[in-house]
Amino acid sequence: MSINRALSSIVVLILFTVFVPAANAAGATAIVGGTVVDLEGKAPIENAVILVEGERIAAIGKSGSVEIPDGAEQIDAGGAWLIPGLMNMHVHLGLVLPGKMKAELHNESEAALALRMAMNARDSLQAGVTTIRLTGDLHHADLALMRAINKGQAHGPRIFSAGQPLTIVAGHGSKKEGRKKFSGPDELVKGARTQISAGAKWIKIAISGGIATDGGGLAEALMMPEEIQAVIDAAHRFGVKVTAHSGSPVATSIAVDYGLDCVEHGYFLDRPTLKKMKEHGTWLVPTIVVSQPASAPFFERIGSPPWYLKRRESAGKAHWKALEMAIEEGVNIALGTDQMPAEPNDGTTATAREAQYYVEAGMTPLEALRSATIETARMLEAENEIGTLEPGKYADIVAVDGDPTQDIKALRNILLVMKGGKVYRNKL
Ligand SMILES: [Zn+2]
Repeated sequence: MSINRALSSIVVLILFTVFVPAANAAGATAIVGGTVVDLEGKAPIENAVILVEGERIAAIGKSGSVEIPDGAEQIDAGGAWLIPGLMNMHVHLGLVLPGKMKAELHNESEAALALRMAMNARDSLQAGVTTIRLTGDLHHADLALMRAINKGQAHGPRIFSAGQPLTIVAGHGSKKEGRKKFSGPDELVKGARTQISAGAKWIKIAISGGIATDGGGLAEALMMPEEIQAVIDAAHRFGVKVTAHSGSPVATSIAVDYGLDCVEHGYFLDRPTLKKMKEHGTWLVPTIVVSQPASAPFFERIGSPPWYLKRRESAGKAHWKALEMAIEEGVNIALGTDQMPAEPNDGTTATAREAQYYVEAGMTPLEALRSATIETARMLEAENEIGTLEPGKYADIVAVDGDPTQDIKALRNILLVMKGGKVYRNKL
């Protein structure tokens, strides 16, 4: 071997040592000594071994009951509690809100947007969020990022995306830069099919006004029943689900009758509508964190204008009441924030604070944890792959420093993040 070739082999070796995520001869990792939380409310497994082989969990059991292969890397999780990776079902990785933030991002190029979204995806993963659903981003940067993450070209959570949101002319979001607008069933059907063809697994429609734009009242039913029905029908024929931004009981009630799968926010939902959602198994993604006091510093930080703060405040009390009623009625709830999953909030992240709000509104800590894991996986119809720690599922594992089924505040401090068998954060 020439000196040059020998040198280049060494260089290659060094590059691999530095850049390739830790692997070992056996390709196995054992997380040992932690307590594995049971999401069915049964006793946890103390002093557990979680054996990970490749991307998936190979075995879980008490120490001594799981054979750890020679050469397996070991992670000591003594004193920590192990839960499935968290899931956040209302995320815009390219979020732009009115005020200073919007001014700064004016004329952002598509390339710059994609890079900003990639950074937000990395931060989300660091916050323990291993799966996200994107409820509307632009230029299909979301789908490009999803594919890049799947190929290992970028680091981030598993992405389920709604592609570009279907906004009606004059409706919520219609004045945002770069948004396509639609009117009438035909245009909406075409819009839905365009998203599906690009790779969207959900369709997002806005059937009432919203907080962040001046496109109609929060509780007003802006989309026509025949428009709602047409979109839902078009999407369902492709096996794609539909979620609706809605603050309106009237619009929600109509959409639920037409088979809507999920409601975002639900600011002004009333008890009859929530009962109907319960009957139909419609999901609610509350994003309660956006309208509650803990997020006030966030809106100050991004320089929100007075009209926006006023709209937020006007929704806060009704939004809280709707969440309390939804919990009382047993509506399916999946956690979502409408803020970046890792957004600093009340000394933790928006994701952890959202879960804490659910407990404050009436859930048990276990229910709140489920709304961020197995319930969410169920909504995504991915419960055979993610959502619990079980052999055969993806090794999406988070360690926290307390028992979240006793006190949900344990989610405030994320010690370990593993996604698909790779460690992205380790503070154990
Ligand atoms: Zn949103």
